Order: sequence, then structure tokens, then C-alpha cells
Amino acid sequence: MPALTPDRWTELPRVPDPGPEVHDRPVLRVVTAPALLEGAGFPVRRPFPSRELGFREADPFLLLDHLGAVEYGPGEAKGAPWHPHRGFETVTYMIDGVMRHRDSQGGGGVITDGDTQWMTAGAGILHDEMPPEELVANGGLFHGVQLWVNLPRALKWTPPRYQSIDRHAVRLLTSSGGDVLLRLIAGEIGPWRGPGMTWTPITFIHATFEPGARLAMPWPTDFNALVYVLMGSGAVSPAGVLVREGQCAYLGAGGRVLMVASTQPESPTGRWEVLLLGGRPLREPIASYGPFVMNTREEIIQAFEDYQAGRMGTIPVTELRPPQAP
Ligand code: MN
Repeated sequence: MPALTPDRWTELPRVPDPGPEVHDRPVLRVVTAPALLEGAGFPVRRPFPSRELGFREADPFLLLDHLGAVEYGPGEAKGAPWHPHRGFETVTYMIDGVMRHRDSQGGGGVITDGDTQWMTAGAGILHDEMPPEELVANGGLFHGVQLWVNLPRALKWTPPRYQSIDRHAVRLLTSSGGDVLLRLIAGEIGPWRGPGMTWTPITFIHATFEPGARLAMPWPTDFNALVYVLMGSGAVSPAGVLVREGQCAYLGAGGRVLMVASTQPESPTGRWEVLLLGGRPLREPIASYGPFVMNTREEIIQAFEDYQAGRMGTIPVTELRPPQAP
């Protein structure tokens, strides 16, 4: 688990516990993420949208895919070749391994070990998300997440934008006890701010807990709150609801998120690895079909027409390859 993991956490700025007078967010639901195949056939776990965790609960998020962790053999690694998006943002955070991204506007790059690529599809774009040829040829460890953040109606047609967020730009913080590493990728905690520029106000954190570590984290009362477990196990809320790898806890209202790692988290690193996600709900109608997320069915039909007419962009000529033999 490389991500960005310094050896010493106790010297990092400490997020103060807002104290017991702030209402703790209860766990309303724990969902085990269904496993499925995405793109050209790579395995993902998708806690939402799912039968038990829909657009309503996830709002302003649309989708979370947990990619791996998987150890690919030679020739096994797959990605998602050229395809369009419109109406939202895709945020890809790589924990272990390498991912290469290219889009029809010239954006893209290679991310690895804690880097993030943030693509605002807005009015429409085509992109290609693939492991680099070297990883495909040799195989290797692959672990990351992709989060879809919805755009409000007024911003669905914003021009596409690409942000490459180097792991060293991520704001590192720790808990009041110095035993939880907080990687703030986007959003704000107190006076600290993550590097991701978001149209829709959100908080996106990758947290690593030492065994038994406790986190009491201030959380904006107008945001939703979701805890997704990448590895290990721990308890959420004062009721101590246990969540394990591949599970997502959906929290209710309150100003503090309380979490305690298991003393034996049963992960390869011996630590509890979680994503803490929240945002201000948009509460707008959602019309969604595959790679397009708009407000009405008419806008989805229009998206298909625009894509087929090349109005979302075209695959760069340098990317065109002869079709492969079946
Ligand atoms: Mn995509």
C-alpha cells in the first residue's frame, strides 16, 4: 500500500476533535459492494449506485468503483478504451500500480502510487483509461478507485477540464492522537484544503489507521457522509458498527464522524484503509445512461446524438490503431 505514506505521522498538523458536544453521525446502513466487470473486463466492487445505496443517498456522488487490489499476471491487465462522458466529473485515485489516461482535448498523463487525475467531462469529452503497455506485458499490482461527482444543472455544459494532482500536492494531516494518516485530496477540514478543484463542494479523503487508532473528525453538517473500506476493519459511530473491506457505511446527520480501527484489522499491512467521502447534495433530477448523466431523458438522447455526430470530440489520429485480430 504505497499511496503517499510518510514514516512519521506525529509531526503532521493535527485535526482537533470537535468534542462530544457535537452530534455524532450515526450509521444508517452498511452495504457490501457488489462485484462486477467494467470497461474491457476488469474487476471492480461498486458500493454505489446499488440496490441499497442509490443516487439519493450518494448525492452529489454518482458512482464509486474500487479497482482491485489485484495482482495481474502477464497479459491480464485491462482498462477502459476510448469512450465518452457528459454531465459529471471522474476522479481516479491510484493507490498501487500505474494507470494511463488520455482524452480528446489533449489532457492526460500517467498516475501512480497516490496520484489523482480529475477529469471534468462537462459538455462532453472522450477518454481512454488503460494500464500502460509495460504493466499489461509484465503484470503487477493494481489498486485504485474511481469516483463520479455529479455536476449541478447549471454546470452540465461547462467546458471539459483536466487536473493532474501529484501525490506530493495532497494535504497530509493526522488525528488528535497522531495515529491516523489523513490524505486530503479535495475539500476542506478546518483551515486545511486539498488540491482538487471541485465544482460541486465535496470532501475526498484517504485515511490510514494504525491498529486501534481513533478519529473524531469534524464534518460539515450540510454534507452527506460515506465511509468505504479499502482494506481491514474498524468501527464507525458511537454505536461501534463494524465495517470490513468492500463495505460502505452510509451515515446520518451530525457534525462529527467517529471511527475506531480494529486492534487486529486483518489487512496485509495491519492497518485500516478507508475512503471518507462527503458532499453537498444537489437534489436535482437524475437521468443516467451508461457514460452520460443529465437531468432529463431528452438530454440523454441528445447526448447519444452528439456523441455519434462527433460533437463530444474524436479519438486523436495518433491514437488510432489497426483493429486487432479476434
Ligand atoms: Mn471513463
